[in-house]
Amino acid sequence: MRASSRFAVFTIALALTACAVNPVTGDRQLALMSEGQEIEIGRQVAVSAEQQFGLVDDDALQEYVHRLGTQLAQASERPDLPWTFRVADSSTPNAFAAPGGYIFITRGLLTLLRNEAELVSILGHEIGHVTARHSVAMMSRAQLAQLGLGIGSILRPEEAERFGSLAAGGLQLLFLSYGRDAERQADDLGYRYALEQGYDVREMVNVFASLQKSAELAGQSPVPTWLASHPYPAERIERIERELVNLPPTATPRRIGEADYLARIDGLTYGEDPREGFFEANRFLHPELAFRVDFPQGWRMQNMRQAVVAGSPQEDALIQLMLVPGTPKEAADAFFGQQGVSAGQVGSQQINGLPAIIGGFEVQTEQSRLGGLVTLVSLEGRTYRILAFTPVKQRADYERSFRATAYSFARLTNPEALARQPQRISIVRLPRAMTVVEFNTAYPSAIPIEELVLINQMDGPQSVMPTGFKAKRIIGEG
Ligand SMILES: [Zn+2]
Repeated sequence: MRASSRFAVFTIALALTACAVNPVTGDRQLALMSEGQEIEIGRQVAVSAEQQFGLVDDDALQEYVHRLGTQLAQASERPDLPWTFRVADSSTPNAFAAPGGYIFITRGLLTLLRNEAELVSILGHEIGHVTARHSVAMMSRAQLAQLGLGIGSILRPEEAERFGSLAAGGLQLLFLSYGRDAERQADDLGYRYALEQGYDVREMVNVFASLQKSAELAGQSPVPTWLASHPYPAERIERIERELVNLPPTATPRRIGEADYLARIDGLTYGEDPREGFFEANRFLHPELAFRVDFPQGWRMQNMRQAVVAGSPQEDALIQLMLVPGTPKEAADAFFGQQGVSAGQVGSQQINGLPAIIGGFEVQTEQSRLGGLVTLVSLEGRTYRILAFTPVKQRADYERSFRATAYSFARLTNPEALARQPQRISIVRLPRAMTVVEFNTAYPSAIPIEELVLINQMDGPQSVMPTGFKAKRIIGEG
């Protein structure tokens, strides 16, 4: 959840309706989509992505990634698209392309990379998806599959949208796999773009190796990673290595750009940024907005920036917390004034000393009748809406959990939580050769040794980093 309280714009679903297709004729119709339409849809998806993830607040880094990406794209088959390259403020390693040339790479992926050649190989691959129009073809499949981030299972996307859920934000477009053939093609195109710009394409192999290790270390992540949408890393490494055999010799060495790259990511936030809110067991704490709230024990929780969402283990109830415009009274009127929403008992009261309006409601959706509790609570001039709902027949089972969550909302006063700062990458030039373990003793990091091995692209804790090696360490509390 962002302190700047930006709100989701659900224009994507609308934009996509305009090119709605049936499963049989879909691809043909979409192939007729004009470049103008493709750009417009991409632009809207990009707006949505920026709202969900936020962008890393570092102009020099943003400019650097944009410049490298643009150089590659301008030498591609579609130089005239409005190419933009942005670093998304997400710790999950991922990169994605929206139609029309809007490309994102997360800071979580930058963390795993060691040089410009690796970065360029990712950007080149994503450019390949756009130049080959994979994203255009994918839109029909995305629409048909209606994949969400896992919370869409309770509500149909239109209903989720009505309730302000992010599942319907069109962002699932960005997380789909394009299919094996398209990935091969994007690999080939990316390889060529990087090579043409003089980069050492051998570095591409490291990217896959790091991602694979990262996935092993992270286990099952609830958020899609680049590896999830780009499977078969072993096969891809093999393919690249086969191409590398045919690499013509050059008079001058190809560009790797390690020093430039590492200088750019020196100081970059590492892992989750607690300033945007963090969980402690079932409690969500937000230092910037200075509030806390307790979700029911055992529920699956996710901080989606514009909303914090918790789903019941049976996936039949959802609680969503978000900022809404207006006073609690205005927000309550807006909520109960929605078509199809009928109000139960609604009343004003104090929640932990904060003015609030709390009321039951029922709503008839196309699929089922839902019921629940909506709470509007005011803190520091901002209005928070806690929306809890379930199918009406289950409501009695969840009423206590819904109320307990609503009544747990409170001002955050714990100074330690309020002062929480993110961890950061720090680049250290080694004065002598040392193993990763020795490095961690001489320059301690605030992360497990396996993670340190990973971000430095070493094989193991006993691998030796040579003299002059620029090593990443992670500092700060996190
Ligand atoms: Zn891809």
